[in-house]
Amino acid sequence: EPALSIRGLTKVYGNGFKALKGIDLDVQQGDFYALLGPNGAGKSTTLGVVCSLVQKTAGQVKIFGIDIDEDFARAKYHLGVVPQEFNFNQFERVIDIVLAQAGYYGMPRREALPRAESLLRDLSLWDKRNGSARMLSGGMKRRLMIARALMHRPKLLILDEPTAGVDIELRRSMWEYMRRINREEGTTIILTTHYLEEAESLCRNVGIINHGEIVRNTSVRELLSEL
Ligand code: ADP
Ligand code: ADP
Repeated sequence: EPALSIRGLTKVYGNGFKALKGIDLDVQQGDFYALLGPNGAGKSTTLGVVCSLVQKTAGQVKIFGIDIDEDFARAKYHLGVVPQEFNFNQFERVIDIVLAQAGYYGMPRREALPRAESLLRDLSLWDKRNGSARMLSGGMKRRLMIARALMHRPKLLILDEPTAGVDIELRRSMWEYMRRINREEGTTIILTTHYLEEAESLCRNVGIINHGEIVRNTSVRELLSEL
């Protein structure tokens, strides 16, 4: 079964704006998938629905076969999310922000501490672990959110514009890290981006979204052969 399956997804916001017009999408297990499209296309809305942050108007979403309307509590164990906005408490310590995630997922502390430490090392946040998150640069905060999202070993990692506002050097190291967890741990990754270059260098498959509709769904290789 697919890691993510979306059927007929529609979203009409409270002001009457139709942001999604019946989206169908399958992302297979182990894939590295880009939802590519210009600003305002509906990328964040789509991910918002998948993460249950945005209430859909109609349609069906399944995560590893689990319908989010039937059992989001179970579906969310498979899901790690890196939203666009920083949404942690800036006054908490870096290590505590990552550890708190373990608490939400019922991970025992003796397991959680080494996991948090290894993520903070891998994401070059080790030196900052005992400091307050407020002291981190933008790129470090982004990496902190990735560490937190991976804490409970989700099988599906979703990132909304992960490298927006990140400088080129850091972008490359984040790309390298995402490639590594996709390859070595088999984590399915879905990211949204408006950079073709990002989809191109990272992803295997791509869905192109515009005005709330998927206009193409293809492999990156296929897409490049047409340019
Ligand atoms: P919903 O229909 O999902 O409840 P609402 O229409 O109530 O969403 O809007 C939620 C919030 O987002 C409101 O505070 C609204 O003002 C704000 N908002 C409205 N239009 C936009 C927009 N184009 N982009 C981002 N946020 C918006
Ligand atoms: P993207 O992530 O591709 O930039 P979004 O999903 O954020 O696109 O937004 C899709 C469309 O829905 C945009 O036109 C945006 O202005 C509108 N929108 C987003 N949130 C709201 C909201 N809360 N209320 C009304 N319109 C919204």
